[in-house]
Amino acid sequence: MQNYTQLVERISRSSGLTIEDIERRIEAKRAKLSGLISKEGAAQIVASELGINFDKEKIKTSEMLDGMKKVNVIGKIIQMNRVIEYDKNGRHGKIGSFVLADETSNVRVVLWDTNHISLIEQGKIKENDMVEINNASVRNTELHLSGFSDIKLSNEKIDNVIEKRVINERKILELNPGEQANLRAVVVQLFEPRAFSVCPACSKKVSETGECSEHGKVTGEKRFLLSLVLDDGTETIRAVLFSEQIEKLLSKEEIENSELFMKKREELLGKEMIFSGQARKSKIYDNLEFFVSDAVEVDIEKLIAELEKQ
Ligand SMILES: [Zn+2]
Repeated sequence: MQNYTQLVERISRSSGLTIEDIERRIEAKRAKLSGLISKEGAAQIVASELGINFDKEKIKTSEMLDGMKKVNVIGKIIQMNRVIEYDKNGRHGKIGSFVLADETSNVRVVLWDTNHISLIEQGKIKENDMVEINNASVRNTELHLSGFSDIKLSNEKIDNVIEKRVINERKILELNPGEQANLRAVVVQLFEPRAFSVCPACSKKVSETGECSEHGKVTGEKRFLLSLVLDDGTETIRAVLFSEQIEKLLSKEEIENSELFMKKREELLGKEMIFSGQARKSKIYDNLEFFVSDAVEVDIEKLIAELEKQ
């Protein structure tokens, strides 16, 4: 039904007619066809009779659905990510990405075309810019730009863009590298926190002899890494938490004291929680790992309240 409502809204926006007016036309069309056609189908006919060409029409980020092609959108870049270079199967390339927001939601935009990426590298397209994107496609809840897509600066203004990142709940099996997601999963394994030291200047890991690759001999700062295994019924994944994030699960004492940790471990094993974070490809094992930025216990009552609101 969501699609039908969105379709009617799009027709209303493009035609300038009211929602009620369009719904009347759709009902009339269905009546004329003796109800042999779905509401969506009737809406499509009404749209074409009104001369609306969805190929040129802009949509909102909240209306994007997996598999959509020829997507046109205007929005504000609320977060510009570093351009990543990759070498895969003997092929070298770059990937650009940013988060695009409008007044309805926001979406991660991925750029594959070197001409588009060079706009970012030259600073011609940057954070806080308004941009218009044409002919992009939606894949895995991201908007992808190929060489056939277009991106340019826009003079349009949007008030109240949704800055808060909309994070999708995902199944472990569906996770893609680089994706931000919420996982609702059970802790099935929990390893004792591992200590390591980082350079006080650049926060990079220092070697066992106490050297930073950039700053030489330094007095390292102690940090911890906690790894666990999560299972949501579709697949398991290794999850990693660093110092500040570990405190979402363990107290400072439990991090450093083995006995206290083992006690807490018993409590956490088998517990279902919502983990927020990013999936990343492990350099060592070539599989996906989940870098946790937040972990909260599943609050059943809150979930029910949210479901009832919808
Ligand atoms: Zn350093």
